Amino acid sequence: MDKQLREELANWLEFFQEMGAGSINLQDLEPASRLEANQTVPSVAQAPPPAADVNPVRKTWEAPKIQPSAPAAQVAPRALAPQPGSLFEAAPATPRGKETLEAIREDLGDCRRCRLSAGRKTIVFGQGNPHAEVVFVGEGPGADEDAQGLPFVGRAGKLLNRMIQLVGMKREEVYICNVVKCRPPGNRTPQPDEIETCSPFLVRQIQTIGPRLICCLGAPAVRTVLGIKTGITKIRGTFYDFGEIKALPTVHPAYVLRNPREEKLLREDFQKIVDFLRSPQ
Ligand code: SF4
Repeated sequence: MDKQLREELANWLEFFQEMGAGSINLQDLEPASRLEANQTVPSVAQAPPPAADVNPVRKTWEAPKIQPSAPAAQVAPRALAPQPGSLFEAAPATPRGKETLEAIREDLGDCRRCRLSAGRKTIVFGQGNPHAEVVFVGEGPGADEDAQGLPFVGRAGKLLNRMIQLVGMKREEVYICNVVKCRPPGNRTPQPDEIETCSPFLVRQIQTIGPRLICCLGAPAVRTVLGIKTGITKIRGTFYDFGEIKALPTVHPAYVLRNPREEKLLREDFQKIVDFLRSPQ
């Protein structure tokens, strides 16, 4: 077996085990899922590696759901208006390009603006490409993120990484941050006043980056960015319009870790992200 394929396969198996899957018997895979010894290893974007298609729950072969995108001209995302109270409705109109992420981080300083500062180890500002086309916004740091000072580095982060990889993107190409930058005690949902205090920094980050798309991961991010309180499973996969920037709600990777059968929702929405990015600007 090719060395690159073997490493990729090992990574996926390790990932599924971390997600709680039991042993995966590779003999159960359909012959079509195996690469011939001298076959060129496809990129993740071209075709997921064999283990990617082993459902961690059913452990059976499934046809890849992420396929090369439809022609860009066919991608016409619905663009609904955000609700009153959305992040951008209340945001000051900071002209894009006037700030840098470093300046915003410096302004944040050793922030004590809300009660979340009391229990945090580290401020998790955000990570990624300062010129990213996609910004992923989650809820708040968990224990791993709090310890490392980086967003989405725990189990949910690994799933996010896999989804990013599965559709042919790289983590370093996107930007990842959260609605609040300090870990809420016991990983509780951030409270409205905490979000209100912290979110202006998120707005400035997004306005500075100037992405084409904001992907809201989970209900708190949707409520903050879009002002929408409807259940996330009802509105996920629908594009919203902030003028030049679109927003796409989807489920939080942590939700998928708790409900592995819902992984298809993330896959579908990540495919929409890729289709959107391939569409004309
Ligand atoms: S959550 Fe935000 S506003 Fe609150 S202390 Fe942390 S950085 Fe400051």
